[in-house]
Amino acid sequence: MGVGARVVCVGLLLCSAACEGDIGGGRALETRGGATTGDGGVRSWMSYHWPRRTTPIPIRVGDSLTADAWRDTLTRVLPGWTASTIVRAQRLAGEVTDPKDCTPGPGRVEVCNAEYGLNGWLGLATIWVNGDEIQNATVRLNDSYFATADYDDRYARQHVLCQELGHTLGLDHQRTEVSCMNDIEGLKDVRYVGPGRDDFTLLARIYGASSTATAQALTQAPTIDGTGDTRAYTFVAPADR
Ligand SMILES: [Zn+2]
Repeated sequence: MGVGARVVCVGLLLCSAACEGDIGGGRALETRGGATTGDGGVRSWMSYHWPRRTTPIPIRVGDSLTADAWRDTLTRVLPGWTASTIVRAQRLAGEVTDPKDCTPGPGRVEVCNAEYGLNGWLGLATIWVNGDEIQNATVRLNDSYFATADYDDRYARQHVLCQELGHTLGLDHQRTEVSCMNDIEGLKDVRYVGPGRDDFTLLARIYGASSTATAQALTQAPTIDGTGDTRAYTFVAPADR
């Protein structure tokens, strides 16, 4: 199609300057996500999903974190998603040399932290998709906030990292149960640091029931410079809560 990568902020009303031009100067669009609703009103991020070749879906998580606080947080958060039995997170050595850039390799979720500025977001999940299939993703954690007394909180870190990882699996926000995917409540609450049962139910729906799609291969190498059919979508965890 030859269109440039565009940034689409899904599911949040607070999508302003935080998203604009974030990916390669792309045009920011606003839309409401959640084309699919699972049990309990839990929503998927449109219909985006990783290739369904095997179950559990191996999610290759690149640890490009530069601070012990974040590495410890990743250690605490990953088992929560793997407990779904639908996905199996594999922690790999980071590949990113510039955390601000945080460019992911093919098939990876690269997790980066840096001082991205007081731009309105604590965490940012971006997926690059071909059709509705996720090819790679990033989670960016904003130390410009987490270095301050307001946000330097163990549970806030877990909540945001857990939520952004959930987005990279194809999940939207939910407010129906105690879960890290709740975008309104629980930022510094120990109860909201992991996924909930409804999240697992929706993951099973996204990945478990589609064996006919398992033979689908990636049709092209991921393109993250906006020159191919791959597009970037971004999810934001706002700071002002
Ligand atoms: Zn979110």
